Amino acid sequence: MATIGINLKEGTLEQTQDVIVGIDLGTTNSLVAYMKGGQAVCVKDAQGKGTLVPSIVHFTDNEGFIVGDEAKIKLVTDPGNTIYSVKRLMGKSFRDVQDMEGFFGYKILDDDAEALVKIRVRNRFYTPIELSALILKELKTRIEGELNAPVSKAVITVPAYFNDNQRQATRDAGKLAGLDVLRIVNEPTAAALAYGIGNPAQASADMVETIAVYDLGGGTFDISILRIENGIFEVLSTNGDTFLGGDDFDQAIVHFWLEQLNIEKKILTEENKFGQRIRLLAEKAKKALSTSDLFEHELDGKRISLTRSEFENLIEPFVGRTIECCKNALRDAGLTPENIDKVVMVGGSTRVPLVKKSVSAFFERPVFDSLDPDEVVALGAAIQADVLAGNQKDVLLLDVTPLSLGIETVGGLMDVIIPRNSKIPTKAGRQYTTSVDGQKNLKISVYQGERDLVEHNRKLGEFILSGIPPMPAGLPKIDIQFILNADGILTVRARELRSNLEQQIDIRPTYGISEEEMGMMLLDSIQNAQSDMQIRGLLEARNEANNTLLSGDKFLKQNADMLDETEKATINALLTALREAASGSDKDVIHLALEELNTYTAPLAHRAMDKTIREAMKGKKV
Ligand code: AMP
Repeated sequence: MATIGINLKEGTLEQTQDVIVGIDLGTTNSLVAYMKGGQAVCVKDAQGKGTLVPSIVHFTDNEGFIVGDEAKIKLVTDPGNTIYSVKRLMGKSFRDVQDMEGFFGYKILDDDAEALVKIRVRNRFYTPIELSALILKELKTRIEGELNAPVSKAVITVPAYFNDNQRQATRDAGKLAGLDVLRIVNEPTAAALAYGIGNPAQASADMVETIAVYDLGGGTFDISILRIENGIFEVLSTNGDTFLGGDDFDQAIVHFWLEQLNIEKKILTEENKFGQRIRLLAEKAKKALSTSDLFEHELDGKRISLTRSEFENLIEPFVGRTIECCKNALRDAGLTPENIDKVVMVGGSTRVPLVKKSVSAFFERPVFDSLDPDEVVALGAAIQADVLAGNQKDVLLLDVTPLSLGIETVGGLMDVIIPRNSKIPTKAGRQYTTSVDGQKNLKISVYQGERDLVEHNRKLGEFILSGIPPMPAGLPKIDIQFILNADGILTVRARELRSNLEQQIDIRPTYGISEEEMGMMLLDSIQNAQSDMQIRGLLEARNEANNTLLSGDKFLKQNADMLDETEKATINALLTALREAASGSDKDVIHLALEELNTYTAPLAHRAMDKTIREAMKGKKV
């Protein structure tokens, strides 16, 4: 949607583009940012205080919910109804997360290990997608309040190691929150963009840079090695620890103080507020020690203290573990620290001076830390959004294809060649063959969508590869290539490899398809997954039956003199049974008929083969 504005000075109409916002949907905190006067800025809360929205949802007694700072308070008072770290569950099944069970204070449903996880709150079940959507809605409200205008388009960041399911879940959460997610961007890519790294406008042409993005938050650590060339960001390797961060620093301080005060550790698990108070104080001390050398405080009438060097001794093992991860990431990328041109710091815990010092020493260079490490990913997302809005022409960023692309095969089945969410530009292909002897033409129908039957998908175009030299069915090798370029133009090329016959067409897959239609197509595919699978099973069985019927008839004709009357009659009876089964709609019955026929004819086929070989050898001397 574009809006029309009136330029009062000039008396002209101006069409202004919708703002596209950048969102960092984090494990602990989330932020929303946008371009304000050519500068990326994070949006503050209504009181103008902080930019962070804790990624926490609390469900109230009256079926309502609250998100953010208010929900965070409930983490202590009502943990069972307060959901945190939902990002850890995105796109995961119960089997994927069962090792983490003790980590969550809320109930994760375990009745189906394979299905995507659901979280139980009071008497309702929520998917991680729904819960993330609530956080995204809060961010949407925040930015709409700031801009005093509706916002419907966003770029959302995810960790570089997120797989397709996790990325798709994030996209779906956006959709559910009423946001058109124009792109899912890797967090390290966004962090680099925030520093202007990889922006060809700020770098010399054809420059290749290799950078490390070190991201230490409250509960997770990620290191990513990226290669940037001509505005294209490529993730070379990622490493990290999903349970390592500033929370470990806080805990180490708590244990240190308990020793200082001569108090047993078990006090932390007892039903009292002492544990919570000392933990909050520990985080306060940690933050204070980022800028001063000593922290002192009173706790229940007793003095507690911590010096910078005591703190550094406590956290040294954790920092050491992050450096080990950096070594692993470099090794996987086949690089050494000298190969890294720039190091970018992300996450609140990189404010700790020892962290900065250790990372800088390991990579043998100063680190990029001038931007707020909590905001840097959201700022980069806003820059990326600006690129998509067409305001920064120099930056080329890779997109993904939103729906699968494929061709129709026998029985009206969709054969996917480029799966949805593939990065573009991309190229993929497969070999096919003919199903009839002497077939001269092959119709190639190109479809887009997620359903198993092409009739439920969207037809993009078709063409005929004609002039295939006559050959028995199954012999021609027809190579079909799908080439999707950076502008989203699909070229389909078909080539018969034995004769070099070739034909191709160009198609624009997203042309004329709205985001809503795309959403409907995806929803359809999810809702019909079960029935689609059954239909696919039946059609595949029928195809196999039809092929077997053809070769069975051929076998009878070619080997008439080798088979006795009983054998011929039995084969005919089995073929008739198969023909009948194939006209029915039970795939198991078809499979059974196929099996019976195959079991009976297998020894006969061997006999026929032996005979052919004997005949071929007749009269030939070795
Ligand atoms: P993030 O997950 O990126 O929001 O990082 C949050 C973590 O950063 C928490 O463990 C915070 O305690 C920590 N943090 C925030 N500010 C500071 C600071 N000034 N010094 C040290 N740690 C900090």
